[in-house]
Amino acid sequence: MLSIARFQSEVDHMVAHTKALAQLESPSNNKAAVDACGQRLIADLQALKPTRVEIDPQPDRGDNIVAHWADSAGNETGGIVIMCHYDTVHPVGMLATNPLRVEDGRLYGPGVWDMKASIVQTLTALRVLKAENKWPDVPISVLITSDEEINSHGSLHLIEGLGKTAGLVLCMEPALDDGAVKVWRKGVGQFRVTTHGKATHSGSHHQLGVNAIAEMAHQIAYIESLTDYEKGTTLSVNMISAGTAVNTMPDTCTVDVDLRVMDAVEGQRIVALLHGLTPQLAGASVTVEGDLDRPPMPYSDPIAQAYAHVRAMSEALGDPVGKGGTGGGSDANFVAPLGTPVICGLGPLGAGAHTPTEYVDITSLAGKTALLAATISEWRGF
Ligand SMILES: [Zn+2]
Repeated sequence: MLSIARFQSEVDHMVAHTKALAQLESPSNNKAAVDACGQRLIADLQALKPTRVEIDPQPDRGDNIVAHWADSAGNETGGIVIMCHYDTVHPVGMLATNPLRVEDGRLYGPGVWDMKASIVQTLTALRVLKAENKWPDVPISVLITSDEEINSHGSLHLIEGLGKTAGLVLCMEPALDDGAVKVWRKGVGQFRVTTHGKATHSGSHHQLGVNAIAEMAHQIAYIESLTDYEKGTTLSVNMISAGTAVNTMPDTCTVDVDLRVMDAVEGQRIVALLHGLTPQLAGASVTVEGDLDRPPMPYSDPIAQAYAHVRAMSEALGDPVGKGGTGGGSDANFVAPLGTPVICGLGPLGAGAHTPTEYVDITSLAGKTALLAATISEWRGF
């Protein structure tokens, strides 16, 4: 096993590499920009001499990229799948106001923590394993997707396809605040609820109208009442739009609802309640669109197996890693229902994801990369 000290000498290089990737701004909805970053990643992967690199073309998102290293028997499945995404939430041009910079042991800049440093961590772990002859005789695949920040619709076939046949899936999202890995994640759903009423002049013909906002007020109170902290279920109405003029009763009102659940049964229960919303005002109607976009990832036996391996590696490195979870979803959520051992949050420490204060903690890079390298090189199947 390679020590944390071995990776200390890689840190300057990792910071420079992360800067180079972050320089290639790659917001999910800008195909040209994302693909330009992808070209660099393909070259980085090719440098590690994979068996093959698969480019999964996407019409209106960046192309997805998969690199495969077969084992000595030529197998590409049954081994380790490492999952990263290279899209960010930051629009092109953010670098002008939020330049890449190192301050107090932190690298600041758009997308550095979520998750370009994690991609560099992956590339570095693999490069050093090769250089030090610690590459395990198991199939390894690296999946780098282009749309995790929007919904992963363009990459889901790869996540599920690789996840199904993998022995172990490592998701490189950032670590929890205290450095722990993520062994559970809530399922995430988004819903659009629309109430329909009848427009009228609210001065001259008030009695003829059905106020869609008044109807929505009833619906919002009910939707919010479904939150149950004990179960880990939360619903939040976070966007609303209605109305055309102050003297006109609106005939439609629309809200967007964010749902988080801990397990699949609870998810189905809440989805059914939302789709069963019934109007409270005479003459009003309600329509509902939406579903769980990411299934829950509860702490299951296969995940406990994956954590036990990572934990053992961290203890051997002298820096035991804790476990925790989050209400946010990631692509690991799609792997969990397949029953494949998966662990998330193997990326570095940092803070401010999705904000102008996003940074990666440079002092965590050596330890986290050593842990990833050990997790890969010492795994022989469960
Ligand atoms: Zn991310």
